[in-house]
This record gives sequence, C-alpha cells and structure tokens, in this order.
Amino acid sequence: MPATIRSLCDFLEDFAPTDLAEDWDNVGLLVGDPQRPVERLMTCLTVTPASAKEAIQKKADLIVTHHPLPFHAVKQLTTESTTGRILLDLIRANVAVYSPHTAFDSTFAGINQQLAEGLHLSEIHPLDFDPQSPSETGIGRCGLLPTNLSLADVASQLKGFLTIESVQAVGDPDKPIQKIAVGCGSAGHLLSLARCRGCDLFITGETTFHNCLEAEATGLSLLLVGHYHSERFGLEELARVLAKSFKTIEVWPSAAESSPLRRL
Ligand SMILES: [Zn+2]
Repeated sequence: MPATIRSLCDFLEDFAPTDLAEDWDNVGLLVGDPQRPVERLMTCLTVTPASAKEAIQKKADLIVTHHPLPFHAVKQLTTESTTGRILLDLIRANVAVYSPHTAFDSTFAGINQQLAEGLHLSEIHPLDFDPQSPSETGIGRCGLLPTNLSLADVASQLKGFLTIESVQAVGDPDKPIQKIAVGCGSAGHLLSLARCRGCDLFITGETTFHNCLEAEATGLSLLLVGHYHSERFGLEELARVLAKSFKTIEVWPSAAESSPLRRL
C-alpha cells in the first residue's frame, strides 16, 4: 500500500506529538489533502521561494518543514505577498506542507536532544525538567560534558558537529565549562532558566545584544551559531528517519536552502 499524507502525519505525530508544541505555534498538516499518496518527500528548515521551487521541480508530494508556512493567520491568499505566492505555487503543484516546529524542538529525539548528544553530554534533561514528574520531553536541554573543557574547546567541538566555520561567543575563551544548556533557534528567553540550572554555558542560534550583555554580567557564557545552523542538521536527520521508516518514499533534505546571512 502506498504511503499517504495521512500515514506520514500519523508517523510525525508519534515522533513529535503536536501537543508538545508551544501555544503560539502553528503545527501539523498546514496545506494538503491527507488522502493523497506520497512518493517523494523533502525536508527543510524553512519554506522559502528557493526551497519551494526545489520541491516543485523535484515533484515532492509533501514538504516537512521545521518552520511553519503559513505561520500567522492568512486572510488573503494572493500573489501580493511572499507567503501567498509560495502557497499558491505549492497548492497548484499539489505539494502538501507539514510542520512539527516546537514539537520537534521538545520531543525526545528532537533537535535540542540531538544537539546535546552531538556534544557528547551526559545526564541530558529538558531545561524545564521537574524531578517530581520527570519527563524526557520539554524545552531546551542541559547536560554535562564528560570532562571540563574551555569555552574555546567547546566552540571547536560545536563547529565540528555543525560543520560551520565560526561562532559568536560571550565570555572568556579559557573559562572551564562543564554544564551546558542548549536551545535551538532563537532561544534567548531560556537564558535565565539555563542560569537557574547552574549551567556554565548556553548555546543557541541567535539572541539580542541585551541578552548577551545580561549573560556577560551574570557570568553565563554564550555561543551563538546562527539560527539556520542551530536547526538545519535536525532536518537532515529527520530525512534519514523518514527514509528508514518509509522504504517506498524517496526522501531528501532540501539542497536549495541556505542561511540568508552571508559574511562579506
Ligand atoms: Zn527556528
């Protein structure tokens, strides 16, 4: 029996239950007919003009995108907006869209867990972990390095895992680090939680100048890897997970998307 959009939705609901998503989020099947078959599937971080074009050209039946599209309520669907143009093109080409977003951040095998494991942390827990009702799902992650490393050494390890050339840092490069918090994407709102957990370092994609100052003033080191790089690896892994579970489907991570930020 060929896989359908509904069977993919069921699998993704098990993998990253949508009730783990934040209240403000927009997750699940956002565009498409659940009864249509799926033979070709593309994962991506974001549906952009470039990744949408790739999905249409390569005849994807379904895009699984981390960031939702549409995200905000849509009152007009016209070619006058970027969102409208992309959605109209996808709908005309019969490409469905599913987004797990913050459910994928928080689920057991989600992006934050993968990042924590990529740094070889042990005793990994969500940042909102409650010993009274322990759960392996939740926001962010924190854990311990096997041995103390300097901030500069953690930065090197992180660059290796994410295959990036540089990160932005707050804090003394020689500072010894043992306990690390991670929050993929734009997770400056988790800084105080990381501090309460006794972490020496918080790793996220991006945050504000004032959060950087606050981290510096309170002795919490920061590594900022860029929003794109803090999450993109998770969509490459999700493509592998889906390919393994659905042998009849050709699955690939978008080759056309990239960070919009360049270093000149
Ligand atoms: Zn994000």
